[in-house]
Formats: sequence, structure tokens, C-alpha cells
Amino acid sequence: MKLRGTERKEFPLSVRKAAFARCCKPDGIPKCENCGKPLRPGNIEYEHLTPDGLGGEPTLENCGVWCRVPCSSAKTHKEDNPRMVKADRVLKKSFGLERKKKAFQSRGFEKRPRQNNASRPINKWRPDIEENGQ
Ligand SMILES: [Zn+2]
Repeated sequence: MKLRGTERKEFPLSVRKAAFARCCKPDGIPKCENCGKPLRPGNIEYEHLTPDGLGGEPTLENCGVWCRVPCSSAKTHKEDNPRMVKADRVLKKSFGLERKKKAFQSRGFEKRPRQNNASRPINKWRPDIEENGQ
């Protein structure tokens, strides 16, 4: 069950075109808007600056043209996913939907026989033999 919504909103073609034109701006060479290195074919990612799972809209302002490796994958795995996992955890906790914690069940120990005489401790190793040679 997802509390943050299930529908993923990718950038429409018009937004991707506008973002690509923006990243080519000064000299016509497409460059990563995060690290500034020239983009290579196949290594382009239209990155949600605010993650889609956290309410980021598929608009031009929220779109960054980044290199897939290393910029976009690093942001996705090191920042966005942990934030969304935490958002899920907080939402589940606040709505009382988290998994119930199981208490540890002890394997149990044998009960010691009741000691009626305080002055003479029971020999717990050999309860069949009484102490003091009796
Ligand atoms: Zn980059």
C-alpha cells in the first residue's frame, strides 16, 4: 500500500524539449546542469529536482538535464530514495499502519524447585542428593 500516491508523472515532450534547449544555451553544446560536463548521447536524464514521489511536478522549473551517471543516479540512490523511504515510514507510523513489533520469546529455563528451608540451600546440580551427607 502506498500513501504517497502511485501514479508517476514523467516530463512531457514539450518540457523535455525546453529543458534540452536550456542546457545547450551559451555555446550550443548540451551540458549537464549539475556538474557542467558535456552530455554524451544515451547518458542524459531528465531529473526531477524535487522527486516525483515527494510531490515534484513535471514542469520546466522542476526539470534538470543531468548526466545519468554519475549525477542523476547518485541523487536518486543517495538522496531521493532514502527521503521517500523515510516519508513512507513516517506516514505509516502516523496512521498506525506500521508492522507490529514482535516481542522476543524466551526458550525458557527449568523452574528451580521451591526452597522451603532458608538455612540449607538446595543442591541445584543434583537435587536428588541432599547436602551434609544426609
Ligand atoms: Zn553531471
